[in-house]
Order: sequence, then C-alpha cells, then structure tokens
Amino acid sequence: MTTADARCDVLVVGSGGAGMSAAIAAREAGASVIVITKSALGASNTGRAQGGIQAAIGADDTTEDHFEDTLSAGHDDGDPALVRTLVEGGPDAIAWLASIGVPFTHDDGDLRVIRCGGARRPRLLQAGERTGAEMVQALRAAVRASGAEVRESTSLEALEPAGDGWRALTRAKDGSSTPITASAVVLAAGGGLGGEAARIGEKSTNHPDATPEVLEMALALGAEGRDLDSWQRHPTGAIWPAGLAGYALPETTRSYGATLHDAAGERFVDELAPRDVVADAIIRVVEEGRGAAAPDGTMGAWLDTTAIDRDNGPGFTAERLAYVHNRYLKQGVDITKERVLVYPVLHYRNGGLVIDESGRTTLARLYAAGEITGGVHGTNRLMGNSLLDTVVFGRIAGSAAAREALA
Ligand SMILES: Cc1cc2nc3c(=O)[nH]c(=O)nc-3n(C[C@H](O)[C@H](O)[C@H](O)COP(=O)(O)OP(=O)(O)OC[C@H]3O[C@@H](n4cnc5c(N)ncnc54)[C@H](O)[C@@H]3O)c2cc1C
Repeated sequence: MTTADARCDVLVVGSGGAGMSAAIAAREAGASVIVITKSALGASNTGRAQGGIQAAIGADDTTEDHFEDTLSAGHDDGDPALVRTLVEGGPDAIAWLASIGVPFTHDDGDLRVIRCGGARRPRLLQAGERTGAEMVQALRAAVRASGAEVRESTSLEALEPAGDGWRALTRAKDGSSTPITASAVVLAAGGGLGGEAARIGEKSTNHPDATPEVLEMALALGAEGRDLDSWQRHPTGAIWPAGLAGYALPETTRSYGATLHDAAGERFVDELAPRDVVADAIIRVVEEGRGAAAPDGTMGAWLDTTAIDRDNGPGFTAERLAYVHNRYLKQGVDITKERVLVYPVLHYRNGGLVIDESGRTTLARLYAAGEITGGVHGTNRLMGNSLLDTVVFGRIAGSAAAREALA
C-alpha cells in the first residue's frame, strides 16, 4: 500500500550519532524534520562504540596536535579543511553532549582523558566504557524533545530529485510505502561495512543495520565519492572463545597496557601505533607462521590483558574495563588471569561521499554526515574520531540543510 506524500523541510536518513545530531540541529534552526531509520531510533553502530570520543581538551593538548595526528594517521589522504573543522569542533561537541546529558567520566573533578593509538597526547574521553550507548541514550531523548517526527522501522528505498528538493520513497517493515518530499535531505546512514563483510564472507564488528544501500543510491544519483574501498580493520577482534568471534576488544585495553605477542611470546609492534599499523603487524605475524592457534585452528596473536592489572594494580580491569571483562567471564575466561587470542576484524569504512565543510555533498540540497562520508579520516581513521565526526558534522549538516530549506 502506498500512502499520500508526507512533507518536511529536512529529511534525515538514519539515527546513529550523525542522524540524531543533524535532526536536533535542524529543529533548532526552525525546520520541520522527519527522521527515518531502519529499526528503532538509535539502533546503530554508534550505540556499539565502547572506546570513547576524541577532543583536544587536555591541559597539554591543542587542536593543532589533534589536526596533525588525524592527518598523519590517515596517511595525509584526508581533506585538511574537513579535518580542521573536525578538530576545532571537538571541545564544543563535548560541551554540547554533556549539556544534553552524556555522563562523561571524571577523575578528581576533571574530565578523564586517556591516550590511544596514533595520538600524541591523552585525548580520549569516555562515558564509562560504553560511550556510544550513553551518547545514543542522550541523543534519543533530545531528538524526542526536539519535535522531530520519527519514523522507526522505515527504510529509504529510493531517492529522486523533485522540484527544488527531493522525493524519497520509504518502506516500513509492515510493507507499506510512503513517499516523503523534502526541501533538503541529510544522509546519515553509516558506512554499511556490515553489508560489505557479509558480501565477502568476513566477520565484522558492525550492527546488522549497517548496510550500504543509501551510500550506493547517492553514488548512483551522481554524488561524488572518495576512498570508497578504504576499509579499516579493528586490530583486536576476538577469535576465541568462538562465542566472542568478531567482538572487538576496545583500543583502551592497549591504552591501559595490554601487549601483543606472537606464539613464541615475542612482542612485535608498538601497541599504540595507528590502527592499520597494528592490524597489519598481526596479519604479518600470522602470514609468517609466527601466529598462535585457537583450539579450532583459527590463527591470531596473543593480547596479554593480564599486563593491565600488573601495571595498574589489582581491580583496575574490573573497574575500567568491566564490560569486556564481563563478556569474557560469561564465556569462562578471566582476562585478568589469561591472555586472549585476537585477529583484525572488519570495522569501518574510511571513505564515502565527498562533502564540504557545511556537510554538502556534490548534489544540490543533499547533505551527508558521519561514516557515510569521506575525507574526514583519510585512509585510516584514528580511534575516537568517528564519534566526534558524527556530532560535529551531524550538527553542521543539520543546521546547513535547515537554513537552505528555509531560505
Ligand atoms: C563495535 C564498534 C565499536 C566502535 N567504537 C568506536 C569508538 O570507541 N569511538 C569512535 O569514535 N568510533 C567507534 N566506532 C565507530 C563509530 O561508532 C561509527 O563509525 C559511528 O558511530 C557511525 O555513526 P553514523 O551515525 O555515521 O552511522 P551509524 O551509527 O552506523 O548509524 C546509521 C543509521 O542509519 C540507519 N540506516 C541504514 N540504512 C538505512 C536505510 N536504508 N534507511 C533508513 N535508515 C538506514 C541505521 O539504521 C542507523 O540508524 C565503533 C564502531 C563499532 C561497530
């Protein structure tokens, strides 16, 4: 059944960090907004993020350092103007998230910042150890309070130019189809790497809704893309016990002192190097026959998580890494007493749609934000920069789309 066209100033596709930030910003700018999302509001990769969000707020940190770390980790392939926008928007994004209720972790009254791979300074902020879930909870409440209309279990099936704006064909899970006309559209449907992983028969860390059809639709309409085949593997995907296969142990395990070893017990990489360096080193160790075998024959390397409590004192893992600790305990493994086996797992699409500093794609009145875009991370993303990307560029794209729709 097809119902009559719905109308709005700004249509937002997707409700991860980028979509929800865009919807809130577009409402603040006075636009009428409809958000469509594949399943429940906030069900997304954003909600899975454990490690944290980067922003240059530490006493000895600067946005210039964050800029240089981001560009060099991305092999200087990033768009410097977008990287500049990202890092300079960092401190304000954190203040905004705190203002809508994200409970960032403090130590002795100051925001806790820790150093993660590829960063020269402690720069990673956390809300407990489920930063993404805390962000989603706060953003979801803010979207509901904003007056945006939310259509859950509703997917974008097709998009076509209509007059000065766009006509979107959407399908709900009950099979009904509703066209929506909008003066401007913000695409925030993520990178779709879960879909790519399924296609090539690999495991991924991604949410089941992470499929690439919206990115593909925009490209088919003529939007320019960049670095589309640049995928990032998370270095420390669990390979054993089998029940955890594909789960990514957060980067913070290495920030807190976990070390990587080959089968002979030798360390083989700086654990706080950028992600692709660490992932490549693990792959090389296995290819060279120095890998360690899981009981089912899967090859990987040892991540010595027992080093964390040795370095920081007993109880540290249980307190700071309770989520990963408990996930392993449920599978019968105590990571404070046993090291674990890991191998890189598909995680993130570095590239995507070309945007400018306002979140505009190369097509009129079509904006994009978050993992669906390219240029912000070059060809290798720094850990913690993606959550920041969703908030900084989500808010920018939402308000720019609203301004254009209302002009
Ligand atoms: C396990 C895991 C851990 C991570 N940890 C971190 C971390 O610690 N720090 C960090 O910075 N980054 C981390 N990341 C990366 C980061 O979480 C994501 O890149 C980021 O959240 C992407 O946000 P997004 O809003 O662009 O897209 P997503 O959060 O992926 O949201 C996409 C949305 O689009 C919707 N959608 C998709 N297709 C359609 C369609 N056809 N119609 C309608 N809606 C659609 C989906 O339902 C979803 O709501 C992690 C990722 C994973 C998977």
